[in-house]
Amino acid sequence: MTDDLVWLTRAADYAARQHVGQRRKGERAEPYVNHLTEVAALLAETTEGSDLVLVMGGLLHDTIEDTDATVEDLQERFGADVAALVAEVTDDKSLPKEERKRLQVETTPVKSRRAKLLKIADKTSNLRGLVNSPPAGWTEARLRDYVHWAEAVVRSCRGLNAALEAAFDEARAAARVRFDA
Ligand code: ZN
Repeated sequence: MTDDLVWLTRAADYAARQHVGQRRKGERAEPYVNHLTEVAALLAETTEGSDLVLVMGGLLHDTIEDTDATVEDLQERFGADVAALVAEVTDDKSLPKEERKRLQVETTPVKSRRAKLLKIADKTSNLRGLVNSPPAGWTEARLRDYVHWAEAVVRSCRGLNAALEAAFDEARAAARVRFDA
């Protein structure tokens, strides 16, 4: 238990430092770390705190994609399981955005259980963000597009955790009301 707390707070501290100065795209421009703690909390609650690697992965899931962290850094600091999970949910940033989005739909079905749960939590947080604080300058069509894409990614992650799916479906329903998506 004590060890778990040390690992968890270490991951939260590292994530906050790595993403320092970054903000969410929404009009409220929340600190980026709010997204990470939301994803981690969703994962912890819906798995009843049973999977430390998963929750650490939630905190760290964007460090390779959006900061200077590497898989090796994560491996050294947090071990092979956490590093592999984050690598699994990291897009290849050398590819154009549309291609990355297409690949997420295509590759998510063959990903690990943890990666799929992380995807659901990530998309849930992102949809909540769109509803509560839509990015300035996004057209309704772009917002709807995002909602449909998130739904397509989550489709292949279903059947693993009912509580997490329910959280996604609730965010999805709110997006439907807000954007007619
Ligand atoms: Zn994310």
